[in-house]
Amino acid sequence: MLIVQKYGGTSVGSIERIQQVAKRVAATCDAGHQVAVVLSAMSGETNRLLDLARQISAQPDARESDVLVSSGEQVSIALLAMVLKEMGYPACSLLGHQIQIETDDAYGRARIKNVQTTRLLNDLKDGTIIVVAGFQGVDARGNITTLGRGGSDTSAVAIAAATQADACEIYTDVDGVYSADPRIYPHAHKLARISYDEMLELASLGAKVLQIRSVELAKRYQVPVHVRSSFTTDEGTWLVQEDQSMEDVIVSGVTSDLDQAKITLQRVPDRPGLAAKLFMPIAQDNVVVDMIIQNASADEKTDVTFTVPKGDVSKALEHVKCASPEIGAGNVVFDAEVAKVSIVGLGMRSHAGVAARMFEVLAAEGINIQMISTSEIKISIIIDAKYAELAVRVLHDAFIPSTELEDQARRL
Ligand code: ASP
Ligand code: MG
Repeated sequence: MLIVQKYGGTSVGSIERIQQVAKRVAATCDAGHQVAVVLSAMSGETNRLLDLARQISAQPDARESDVLVSSGEQVSIALLAMVLKEMGYPACSLLGHQIQIETDDAYGRARIKNVQTTRLLNDLKDGTIIVVAGFQGVDARGNITTLGRGGSDTSAVAIAAATQADACEIYTDVDGVYSADPRIYPHAHKLARISYDEMLELASLGAKVLQIRSVELAKRYQVPVHVRSSFTTDEGTWLVQEDQSMEDVIVSGVTSDLDQAKITLQRVPDRPGLAAKLFMPIAQDNVVVDMIIQNASADEKTDVTFTVPKGDVSKALEHVKCASPEIGAGNVVFDAEVAKVSIVGLGMRSHAGVAARMFEVLAAEGINIQMISTSEIKISIIIDAKYAELAVRVLHDAFIPSTELEDQARRL
């Protein structure tokens, strides 16, 4: 089999850890598999490099920033290849431009367009362990680009897709994807399998296990991804194409996101074009608006409420305050003490009454719902931030049956 293994920053955080990684890679090779390894920079390194650049300028030159931050991965791949060679295994480290991981030219958030596989496949066939720098690529003019924070997940899935690998193993410091954040809810259990679509919802809802783009790519090319811990040999969570049995599970995960703020523009006249006038400048400033609610109008005026990431509140408020007199609206109010709590599951498609049950569970705890939004496999609500943990716990209890075995394992 051809297996791609990706190791994150903590897994390669020291020489000892890199030696542990080498042992696991060697064992996979000894089992008769071809192995391509994709690495992140040693933990903390990318932040350290970004900080150096920020000492020069608040907005360092984008091209040179990518030359700088991509260097972290050059160090980790060289070290791992060295250790493997010391152990007597043929290994070869390769940078993005050496392989030709072709991207667009959006520095700092480039997208992979193509991965050249000739060299990769030839080396793998010869039994060489390929050690690839994650997070980086090269644009059409030969400039180094990077893929955004957490981008080596995406590098790994892209290489697995291009080489048609049998599996893409993502080794990280958590041992899989959980039904809720185990730090908030100790009874959360590890999911053995999850569909790409559910993972996309969970990833965008703040379960920060994988970069979202890596999940999109895995879905598009149907790459089987195995998220697991580099500290144990336990099975983690498989990301797979959905099958019939997955629809039996109504809710597979409950998440909370405290990085949201709510903005309301009151008494917006009910006329065509005004929502566009309000949201266009916000979008042009690259602020990602999440939930939007507009009520049916009373006396031809309506309140418009929406949420943005906390870090973008002041930018968004500026635009709203500027637009308000122009469109003849009223006051602007905002609240940063909110949380978005969501339930995600494929089974929602075919089961009625999931939302009603969710609201009932929250009502029983006296939790007031401020906003609601739904998709085919997700229901999200905005509530007062101080109830976030309580909401996760009661929703988990209500929707996700606890499995005895896992509870027992956890107690041991
Ligand atoms: N080293 C990069 C980062 O810290 C990429 C990665 O680790 O996935 O974001
Ligand atoms: Mg990561």
